[in-house]
Amino acid sequence: MILVRDLYKQFHSLQVLKSLSLSVPKGKVVVIIGPSGSGKTTLLRCLNALEQPNSGTVQIGEVKLDFAQKVDRARIQQLRRQTGMVFQSYNLFPHMTALQNVMEGPVTVKKVEPQKARAKASAVLAKVGLADKEAHYPAQLSGGQQQRVGIARALAMDPQVMLFDEPTSALDPELVGEVLKVMKELAQEGMTMVVVTHEMSFAKEVADEVIFMDQGVIVEQGTPEQLFRNPREERTRQFLQHLQ
Ligand code: ADP
Repeated sequence: MILVRDLYKQFHSLQVLKSLSLSVPKGKVVVIIGPSGSGKTTLLRCLNALEQPNSGTVQIGEVKLDFAQKVDRARIQQLRRQTGMVFQSYNLFPHMTALQNVMEGPVTVKKVEPQKARAKASAVLAKVGLADKEAHYPAQLSGGQQQRVGIARALAMDPQVMLFDEPTSALDPELVGEVLKVMKELAQEGMTMVVVTHEMSFAKEVADEVIFMDQGVIVEQGTPEQLFRNPREERTRQFLQHLQ
């Protein structure tokens, strides 16, 4: 479902991703861990071309972009529509209700009829456990509820894959569980997911594969069992020790 080959991304003189390759089969969950500044967010943002790589290919579903060539905006939009992205900060529109926030993308980007978009928005809000919060504004919702609206908003676009960038890092500890629960349910339903997170218990429980990144490269990848119990690389071992 996701195929990344030989990705390079540079900011000025800083090489952030170095010949990074990755594949995620349909329905699988990949969790990316690694120290701050190792390039995890940049990798996620390259997957949907929020950042444009300097070179390398990214394929999601049927859409394949080769960034060594000039890529036009229409192709970037195509790639972006394959993905739903959930950010650390939920970025909801403050002047719109939960329902309106979730309807916005389908109506403005996909030109779905408002009535259909409304029914879909209701359904995805129910799915993330917020059926009774449709008419609430973001300021009337807890952080965990706002983040679940963020997930619903991404799901409303019917993405092929979901990308999560530290979705629980901004939340008070007691609100983390409700967001992880929704993510776990999505995984169980067969959604293809790439998740950057510090929540090791989520990684252990839900990931099919865990990737440890450092300094712009994948140092090691394996099942949670392999990577957490028996890391091959010294750098991985050190990182995991610091978490304890
Ligand atoms: P992580 O998510 O692992 O913390 P990031 O992908 O956010 O790492 O950042 C990797 C490196 O790239 C860091 O050194 C960061 O400062 C740098 N970086 C990220 N985005 C930009 C940008 N837009 N401009 C310049 N440098 C950036």
